[in-house]
Amino acid sequence: MDALTVRARELAAAGRLPAYVYGLAALDAHAAAVRAALPGVELYYAAKANPDPELLRVLARHVDGVEVASGGELEHVRGVLPSARIAFGGPGKTDDELRLALDHGVERLHVESPNELRRLIATGREADVLLRANLALSLGDVALAMGGGATPFGMDPAGVEECLALLDRQDAVRLRGVHAHLASGLDAPRMLEVADGVLGYARGLGLTEINLGGGMAVDYADPGAVFDWETYGKGLAGLRRPGETLRVEPGRSVSVYCGRYVTRVLDVKRVHGELFAIVAGGTHHIRTPATKGHDQPMVIAEEGEPVTIVGQLCTPKDTLARRVPAALATGDLVQFLMAGAYAWNISHHDFLMHPHPEFSYV
Ligand SMILES: *Cc1c(COP(=O)(O)O)cnc(C)c1O
Repeated sequence: MDALTVRARELAAAGRLPAYVYGLAALDAHAAAVRAALPGVELYYAAKANPDPELLRVLARHVDGVEVASGGELEHVRGVLPSARIAFGGPGKTDDELRLALDHGVERLHVESPNELRRLIATGREADVLLRANLALSLGDVALAMGGGATPFGMDPAGVEECLALLDRQDAVRLRGVHAHLASGLDAPRMLEVADGVLGYARGLGLTEINLGGGMAVDYADPGAVFDWETYGKGLAGLRRPGETLRVEPGRSVSVYCGRYVTRVLDVKRVHGELFAIVAGGTHHIRTPATKGHDQPMVIAEEGEPVTIVGQLCTPKDTLARRVPAALATGDLVQFLMAGAYAWNISHHDFLMHPHPEFSYV
């Protein structure tokens, strides 16, 4: 039996479910493998995927820095990892957040618009920036598109030109390069095509520091199909020219596998012919299946008649997985997989005022 299942059973026996169980040893090994697959490329972790302090401390052993997307994340990450290099991105930064970033000495600010750059320049402070470019590269069928067309993220080439003109007229804000985070859910060959396009654009502007973003694919329908970091790393090594700094900032693909959401069955019933298992907790603890419209993968201890697994909320959206071929009875342990990213931290915790889950680390 694996260490996370052992812990899940202990928590069940102690009446401490629902719980998030994180495999820190597994995270450590996975992050080491990702790091090793990307020689010569800087690796940042996108904290918004999961900013849990225990995870951040493990990841800090392997990453070159952390990408944050708000003043709140910035202060949180600084508190947990006082000496980490930090990149601060995200649309809609307030003046207070810009000042906070400068006070904390962030390594890089990712500029999202000409107006944001004007406000940064108006502080009169020194800063090192990347311009976030939204290039019209063909992305195809991806999980989430942040670029490649009209979106509120970053700037099209005209916006970048406007920024270059603003930067030319002063010298407190230093232009370091280009940032591009165009899509989420790309496999390694597609990520490399996008990287090639972004690098071509940066080179055209004479810039040598390029942050290629995150968005490496994970497959909730196939927990074993991990992003091909080896192919990606080799490809990037082939694309990189001497003197260029390449950086990536994945989130989901780094932390998703290390977490499980563990709960127990409260009731099983048949309604109009369909079998339902109601578990303690629900999408107010793990909103991922509701947001992404998928079935959260789970450990199937014993095969059985297809059963739809729902939580305790009074809404049909509180569905965790549909028609899972698992034999479930009242009191059984249920372990949802791939709950280490965009799970607890994106959920509406207080809807219906159920208790929060436990957090446990292995
Ligand atoms: C969310 C985000 C990331 C991380 O994306 P993943 O899909 O979790 O890898 C990286 N960079 C930026 C700018 C982001 O907004």
